[in-house]
Amino acid sequence: MTAVLVINSGSSSFKYQLIEMDAEATLARGLVERIGADESRIVHEVMGDDGTATSHEQITQIHDHTAGFQAMLDAFAEHGPSLTEHPPVAVGHRVVHGGARFFEPTVVTNLVTINIQDLSELAPLHNPANVEGITAAQEAFGDVPHVAVFDTAFHQTLPPEAYTYALDAATAERYRVRKYGFHGTSHKFVSEEAARFLGRDNASLNQIVLHLGNGASMTAVRGGRSVDTSMGLTPLEGLVMGTRTGDIDPAVVFHLHRRADMGVAELDELFNSKSGIYGLSGLKDMRDLTEQANTGNEKARAALDVYVHRLKQYLGGYVFQLGRVDTIVFTAGIGENSAQVRAETLAGLENFGIRVDAARNEQRSRGIRVISADDSAVTVLVVPTNEELEIARQTLSAI
Ligand code: ADP
Repeated sequence: MTAVLVINSGSSSFKYQLIEMDAEATLARGLVERIGADESRIVHEVMGDDGTATSHEQITQIHDHTAGFQAMLDAFAEHGPSLTEHPPVAVGHRVVHGGARFFEPTVVTNLVTINIQDLSELAPLHNPANVEGITAAQEAFGDVPHVAVFDTAFHQTLPPEAYTYALDAATAERYRVRKYGFHGTSHKFVSEEAARFLGRDNASLNQIVLHLGNGASMTAVRGGRSVDTSMGLTPLEGLVMGTRTGDIDPAVVFHLHRRADMGVAELDELFNSKSGIYGLSGLKDMRDLTEQANTGNEKARAALDVYVHRLKQYLGGYVFQLGRVDTIVFTAGIGENSAQVRAETLAGLENFGIRVDAARNEQRSRGIRVISADDSAVTVLVVPTNEELEIARQTLSAI
């Protein structure tokens, strides 16, 4: 049995998952949150053979990530599975920003950690937290390799014309300003799963992947390689998201600075946390938004229209960039679960060979499924994403 432990670390929390790689089955997963607060919380879930999870929750005080890892080890010892029986052969870490430096899963050395820290100027909220998680995990699991898997890595195949902003070149180069793209682990995973499901060679497929969660991004994938993606220097660019603007005229920044005297911190919060469908409707959750939109709430309907309009805009752009599209793939919370968003996004595209089958689209299932009609030139799929499994696969491949 080969087990890999996957860590996704934030500034005051981390998630973990122990995956048995022969069957690619999750043995246990958990969350340590509110690290540094008076009442921290650890939730440890043990997966049974029948796929059900038994959850154990504890409220305690956890000062830092190192103490968090100790709490996780205690939870494994108390509730199982035994880490002596399933010792992880490696620990895989999700790292948000790999800049232009990291394009594949990378075994962590001191130099790698320094480089991840150095990239914090591009992801000030995420990379320092990722480094904290790596350092604490190295203390807890000193004998096994640790591997960094970057959210940006899959998009390192973007050609210059796709990643270059038409900004003064010297400024862009000096401050590393370009499109990097995110959600790469998910886009890679679902595009590969889609090819496998269709029994097609990924190298011969052109795909458009819509990762629609709280954060959302779209990627054009040619022959298994990302050739364009909607997120940019940061995850703010592109699609309308739960609380983020997505694309906006950059001059809105100058305008609000001059007219409303808003500073950088205020604008950052406004664009990242108070906008998107939440800013338009007061609702964050797509379930609430569609329900309200369908029952006469005009603000909710208008917000959903803006959301779908942007999706169509990017979809059309990627159809033209790719020239030929074989599959359109929906994934993540909204992509996997909202038949309405899928239907509205692809409505009226029959002339482009995209025809959704209404009954198939409405069907719910946990696995991969086709939702296009048999006579649709483009195959439309719903593919559940599994970023932890992809991190575990890449971790194993790196060692
Ligand atoms: P994150 O980006 O935080 O990982 P997820 O991929 O979990 O987010 O997606 C969260 C989004 O998925 C929320 O907006 C939620 O409303 C939406 N969602 C989850 N289930 C459904 C559903 N049944 N119908 C519509 N939207 C859903």
